[in-house]
Amino acid sequence: MQPGIGTRAGAVGLRAAFAALAVLMHVGLGAAAAAASVASATRAELSGDQTRTTFLLELTAGVTAEIFTLANPYRVIVDLPDVAFRLPDSTGQNGGGLVRTFRYGLFAERKARVVLDTNGPVRIERAAMTAAPKGTGVTFSFDMVTTAPESFGMGTGADKVAEELKKDAPPSDAAGAAKPKRPGKPVIMIDPGHGGIDGGAVSATSKVLEKDVVLAVAKELGRQLAATGRYDVRMTRASDVFISLDQRLSLSLKHGVDLFISLHADTLPEHNVAQTIRGATVYTLSERASDEQARRMAEKENASDLVAGLSSAESGDDEVTGILIDLMKRETANFSSDFSNALIRKLKQSAALSPVPQRAAAFKVLKQTHAPSVLIELGYLSHPEDEKLLNTPAWQKKMAGSITGAVDSYFAKRTAGSPAP
Ligand SMILES: [Zn+2]
Repeated sequence: MQPGIGTRAGAVGLRAAFAALAVLMHVGLGAAAAAASVASATRAELSGDQTRTTFLLELTAGVTAEIFTLANPYRVIVDLPDVAFRLPDSTGQNGGGLVRTFRYGLFAERKARVVLDTNGPVRIERAAMTAAPKGTGVTFSFDMVTTAPESFGMGTGADKVAEELKKDAPPSDAAGAAKPKRPGKPVIMIDPGHGGIDGGAVSATSKVLEKDVVLAVAKELGRQLAATGRYDVRMTRASDVFISLDQRLSLSLKHGVDLFISLHADTLPEHNVAQTIRGATVYTLSERASDEQARRMAEKENASDLVAGLSSAESGDDEVTGILIDLMKRETANFSSDFSNALIRKLKQSAALSPVPQRAAAFKVLKQTHAPSVLIELGYLSHPEDEKLLNTPAWQKKMAGSITGAVDSYFAKRTAGSPAP
């Protein structure tokens, strides 16, 4: 990796912490009530121009906020404790001044985050948390001003923040400590993509979020697999929380999984194509993408960490990629493609398949040397029919049923075809 701006050295600009104000006392909440209540964000606003832009967030109570900047792409990150966002749906989509768009949501358990995508390098000024004039809550605000790329993020503790991000434990429902493997039962890990601050793709008309659709299918799949009694089922996430791609990989390793199934849903940007292309696609890992669309798909899914405000160093898009794939046992790759074949056979019976339903690309979450893994794009949220189906419990059930059938036939073949170890 080359040093300099845009990689590790430029990762962090400014970090400022603000103590909570004594607002709670003014409104007369007791300590117990205050601890139980969660601050809500009720309004978010951008103002200013291309040289100085103010971000303002109205909160029902004072909190401790941390602000830092990231390069590649340029972003401003605001970390907050358990803040509930009660903002209008389109908040942040249009941006303003130096900010193109911003998004917000849970980053980890009891940790919220706002990520602002800026037009270029900025530095933070005049950050403050003040009691609102009418005494109903707190106004948190800061200014972003343009700065030169050379002076962006110099000597401001990039490593410290990276360290802290590393420490973020996976959520408890992802079983922080690996449960011992039950003897004899294959461990299957279901990996619903995205989550929390990273919503994934957004559907064309009803604005359904990929993170919600894939979680619903993942839970149904988990139920059906567990109901067979043949598998030990684990999930990378079982709630609406962000998990980095690295955390997903390490969970898989920690649980010693025998099969890893990542669930996603795609969108196509081109309107004319989006109206015609639909159906499921199964991806396996390959350093060389099978085609241009597969390559773009992997690029989009691999950007999940950047969407959530991890630094590019932290998201690990790095030079070990090639080595990892070289190390991956040929056997693991063969098993992945066996499972992909089983999936296509089963899915064909119950769901629409995309025009090229078996593809390969360098998906980071599939870079597992220890377990066969596939990534299923369940359908296209940009197609009206798929959009409707993906959000329908009956369809989700059917889809989960087909995947369960494929898991069954995959393991039946492995047990029949190989002598006991
Ligand atoms: Zn996705």
